[in-house]
Amino acid sequence: MLVLVINSGSSSLKYQVRETDSQDLLAKGIIDRIGEVVPDHAAALEELSGRLREELDGRTIDAVGHRVVHGGERFSEPVLINNEIVRSIERLSPLAPLHNPASAMGIRAVHAKWPKIPQVAVFDTAFHRTLPEHAWRYALPDSLYRRHGIRRYGFHGTSYAYVAPVAARFLGIDPEEFNAVIAHLGNGASVAAIQGGKSIDTSMGFTPLEGLVMGTRSGDVDPSILIFLARQGYDADTLDDLLNRESGLRALAGESDMRAIEEAAVNGSEQARLALAVAAYRLAKYIGAYHVAVGGAQAVVFTAGIGENSWEFRRQVVDQLGPLGIRLDADANAVRGKQVRRISSADSAIDVLVAPTDEEEAIAEATAAVVARAADSAASF
Ligand code: ADP
Repeated sequence: MLVLVINSGSSSLKYQVRETDSQDLLAKGIIDRIGEVVPDHAAALEELSGRLREELDGRTIDAVGHRVVHGGERFSEPVLINNEIVRSIERLSPLAPLHNPASAMGIRAVHAKWPKIPQVAVFDTAFHRTLPEHAWRYALPDSLYRRHGIRRYGFHGTSYAYVAPVAARFLGIDPEEFNAVIAHLGNGASVAAIQGGKSIDTSMGFTPLEGLVMGTRSGDVDPSILIFLARQGYDADTLDDLLNRESGLRALAGESDMRAIEEAAVNGSEQARLALAVAAYRLAKYIGAYHVAVGGAQAVVFTAGIGENSWEFRRQVVDQLGPLGIRLDADANAVRGKQVRRISSADSAIDVLVAPTDEEEAIAEATAAVVARAADSAASF
């Protein structure tokens, strides 16, 4: 099946075309400056359609899969989109004010351009719908949950759903029996506790701000800091900017990109070294906590840009896991590769793996599966 994967933002539309049987990538690109150079999402779709006509040599798309950030409490798996589903995605906008409206615009634009092509929504939150209540509840008045939906949702679910079975199979473990701690470390970063192949806890919460130190996000802070700053006259937009765009590695090292920080650290920057130390320490603490949460993990798995590429960051994290008997093989850790691989030593208590994620591939596969299932049920009707 030829699947067009769309990640629709408010001012850009990223796309890939995947052939699901061969996993081939047939086209990839971005249409940006929507709202400026390109008037709206409908115009972006026109542009995309023109590009695909050239790049696909006349082959046509069978289905479209959309990355949707927030599925709230409703969506626990990918769904075939109809009018009611788009409205539901829009209704969840208060929980993801930048992302969900943009996804809905992308979906409507595809429907207007190609009304016959089936569309599927794949939600970042869906994989974490298995969190037990003691993990998703904040210790806050119940009215906040009932009125505003304030609870832990978790994100990066598509990546975890992809990486967990890959890591399990590599170790010869049935994915449904797999207990692991998986760290998705990109510009946004989170960690998930996987028990029996399901998510039972994750570090991102009501929004992607909670948890690890990220490129520009603070991760965990004492919430009283916000109260203190509000009393000093900081308004909501300023605080939003501060915590989401001016904090994390950027605040500590003056840089949000891990490659630049590592280079600065090697060149003697104390700031850069501190940034690495703060981020690695935070992650090591979470791994210890989630090892307990899953009742003893069989593996720690690193994935995404930093997790797959930064051997130095992995070393700093795993070096702190000694009390759990977890040990790195320095040579294996230094090897670069695109394959899932083991980086722990033979005497490590549990395995440490690097497993590349591929969210677009995961969305393409999920889309093809949902569309095939819908066709089957239509046929048997
Ligand atoms: P996104 O969350 O935007 O998808 P990625 O998963 O692409 O992010 O991860 C981006 C991060 O990965 C950046 O901090 C980048 O510096 C880091 N990264 C990519 N390649 C390397 C590398 N070779 N060494 C260290 N860090 C790397």
